[in-house]
Amino acid sequence: MDGHTKAYVCTHVFSGDRPVLLVSRPEGDWCLLCGDEHPDDASAYRVVGIGHFLDADAALSEVVDLVPDQEAERAAPGEPWIRATL
Ligand SMILES: [Zn+2]
Repeated sequence: MDGHTKAYVCTHVFSGDRPVLLVSRPEGDWCLLCGDEHPDDASAYRVVGIGHFLDADAALSEVVDLVPDQEAERAAPGEPWIRATL
């Protein structure tokens, strides 16, 4: 994984309205999400280079070792990541 790796982000994270609280790797993709529910619809997501978000939020670097079908969730920025298997 490098900064050019593509990630799916929800529109809330993309716009900067909400922080990333859930990092998920369904089927190996990287998803950076706000933790709320989203419609199961491509319009709820944007595809970006993950590096932009790693630069903006240093805590994300703590979970770049997630492997496919794992996720990590936190209650708020600065809180510890809690990992789970999907
Ligand atoms: Zn969202």
